[in-house]
Amino acid sequence: MVCVGIDVGSTTSKAVLINGNEEIVAYSILRNSHNLAASGRKALDIALSNGKLSENEISHIVSTGYGRRAIGFQNAAEPEIICHAKGTVKMVPTCRSIIDIGGQDSKIIELDEKGVVKKFQMNDKCAAGTGRYLDKLAADIFQVGVEQLGQISLKSENPLVISAQCTVFAESEIISYLSQSKANEDIIAGMHNSLAKRVIDMGKSAFIKFKKDIVFSGGVAKNIGVINALECLLRQKVIVLEEPQLTAALGAALMAKEKSGA
Ligand code: ADP
Repeated sequence: MVCVGIDVGSTTSKAVLINGNEEIVAYSILRNSHNLAASGRKALDIALSNGKLSENEISHIVSTGYGRRAIGFQNAAEPEIICHAKGTVKMVPTCRSIIDIGGQDSKIIELDEKGVVKKFQMNDKCAAGTGRYLDKLAADIFQVGVEQLGQISLKSENPLVISAQCTVFAESEIISYLSQSKANEDIIAGMHNSLAKRVIDMGKSAFIKFKKDIVFSGGVAKNIGVINALECLLRQKVIVLEEPQLTAALGAALMAKEKSGA
């Protein structure tokens, strides 16, 4: 039997299947369609197929994330902060701080020595400070996929300052840099620095101390430029897991196991 965690985020749905030893046996990561319920269902079906498992081998399902109540087939829906903390601590037991940057929100979570959430701060009101900022600028201005930004920024020798606090105004600032023939890599490195600074400032405003070990999760953690920008501003290393988008779904799967009594 397996326990399932499904994280229906604003941009992607993730499903994680764990066995009785709390080991991941299969997972999926899927870009959402406009229909969150169908996206969550599809993420589960793909994970089951990846693990060559059938639905009647599932003992319990916990959903989390922005669309956690949309899917309808879960046994329970749990808040994402708790699921992020549980999943991250499972992977990195020494974690004390989580920086999660997803498609349309960002979160900073502070944990105590036992991995229990002490404080958190979240931005889901403004695109700047989330993956959306990079998605939009990559597509609208540079006509590249967001997955290319990190590598491009590594060529930068003189990162530019993007001071606008808002994605729309940042776009104007960038267009102005382009009209001055500034290099794409220097602008993109500036975008990464601006995003990293915004997220760190959000944590500081809630008196979060960024104690180590710091785990950087969410889809934006796949961007080497943002990893470098965070490490530079924090003056310490951040840990990035091989699949940084899965931690909340893993936490939900662990909760499913607790609830199932397995
Ligand atoms: P959510 O859980 O909020 O739905 P995710 O944590 O899955 O979102 O993050 C989605 C965001 O991650 C995308 O909007 C994009 O900015 C970024 N992202 C996803 N894949 C990559 C990649 N390969 N390289 C760089 N950024 C990525």
